[in-house]
Amino acid sequence: MSTDIIVIGGGAAGMMAALFAAKEGAQVLLLDKNRKLGRKLRITGKGRCNLTNNCERKEFLDNIPGDGRFLHSALAAFSPQDTMQFFEEKGLPLKTERGKRVFPQSDNANDVADLLADICRRSGLTIIQAEAIGISVRDGCVRGVKTQDGLLECRACIICTGGMSYPLTGSTGDGYRFAKSLGHTVTEVRPSLVPLESPDPCCARLQGLTLKNVELRIFENDTLLCREQGEMLFTHFGISGPLVLSASARMHRAGLARYRAEIDLKPALDEKSLDRRILRDLSMYHNKAFHNALVDLVPHALIPELIRLCGIETEPMANEVTKDLRMRLLHALKAFPIEISGTRPYEEAIITAGGVRLRELDPRSMQSRMVQGLYFAGEVLDLDAYTGGFNLQIAWSTGRLAGISAARNTQILSSGSAT
Ligand SMILES: Cc1cc2nc3c(=O)[nH]c(=O)nc-3n(C[C@H](O)[C@H](O)[C@H](O)COP(=O)(O)OP(=O)(O)OC[C@H]3O[C@@H](n4cnc5c(N)ncnc54)[C@H](O)[C@@H]3O)c2cc1C
Repeated sequence: MSTDIIVIGGGAAGMMAALFAAKEGAQVLLLDKNRKLGRKLRITGKGRCNLTNNCERKEFLDNIPGDGRFLHSALAAFSPQDTMQFFEEKGLPLKTERGKRVFPQSDNANDVADLLADICRRSGLTIIQAEAIGISVRDGCVRGVKTQDGLLECRACIICTGGMSYPLTGSTGDGYRFAKSLGHTVTEVRPSLVPLESPDPCCARLQGLTLKNVELRIFENDTLLCREQGEMLFTHFGISGPLVLSASARMHRAGLARYRAEIDLKPALDEKSLDRRILRDLSMYHNKAFHNALVDLVPHALIPELIRLCGIETEPMANEVTKDLRMRLLHALKAFPIEISGTRPYEEAIITAGGVRLRELDPRSMQSRMVQGLYFAGEVLDLDAYTGGFNLQIAWSTGRLAGISAARNTQILSSGSAT
């Protein structure tokens, strides 16, 4: 079997690449190891699919911890607003929520995946369920894709195999192996947008407790790495929730550096105002035990932990609390400490950070600078972003650009060989 272009991986990037390559008139074969296309897409955004972020370019690039400049061409050609227009024109009404996050009005990620799979099927490209096991290259040019059933010949191949997170969806890092076997560098990969593990027994004791409007600070070897306000929660293994996932994306040296977290439970109050507030509560509950004076200040489950952090042997009455004890309480409230031992595994990571080195690709086409006819798009690239719809937008924009570039290049090559 021979075709113009083979797209490996029918996720967000792969479907987009295949679709736009076919639209350019190329003969396209889309391979996915799963029977159903877009398996990961179907679980995105807690099943609602936050498919892009309705922001401008600068804000978009600010949400990429690595070298977002690589995306200039891809985003200029297909911006978040183009993504919105694309889906709406295809019959999927969208809505924009807090933080410019865009979702389908149906709140159903299956609608996004089904729509794309449907357009792929109707656009004349061939879709087959097969696992690619290697890429065949001769004289520096792509010749085909190897599968268990033999070689599928092609003139260009777009690798859209995703990362390694949530491997049950089919993303098991195959693209990294293909890239390395063809001479590309794959930068160190690690789970990102992932919960954090802690050896602190207090996390298990507090499991299930959600904290809203707190500030999470992460220290790398005692230097402040990041601070952000929002929501987090305690789990049996450590901490999770939006603040924690975002923080994990900044912890590039997980496993190498020492990390610890501090939670400011009262970020809206400076130390003076918080002290006044504590004094007020102590006087309100003056003839009760100390812990009673904390009930209006923090969630119930946190009170024994705060008392433990204050280091008192015998609990005093509220009216016996010394200034020293008040200061220790204040410190515990402003800097509740949590040791971090590492991240949770790929199985629980929203994204894989690291991937195919960007310098080895042409950002205007997504083509390899080493192998003619080899393209990469989506999460397999050394690009990741914070939460908010940015990661899917990277997949849409790079997938579309790779598809169009591969189609135009194979057309140029075939008109060249015809003359
Ligand atoms: C739980 C969860 C929630 C998320 N929520 C959001 C969100 O709301 N918004 C957002 O922007 N991002 C979200 N993400 C991230 C987003 O899903 C990814 O960035 C995006 O799916 C990457 O697209 P991709 O096409 O590059 O890879 P994938 O979607 O991972 O697709 C890769 C495809 O390649 C196939 N494949 C792999 N190897 C082979 C092979 N050898 N042969 C054939 N096929 C192969 C796989 O089966 C898979 O279908 C979420 C991720 C997770 C895990």
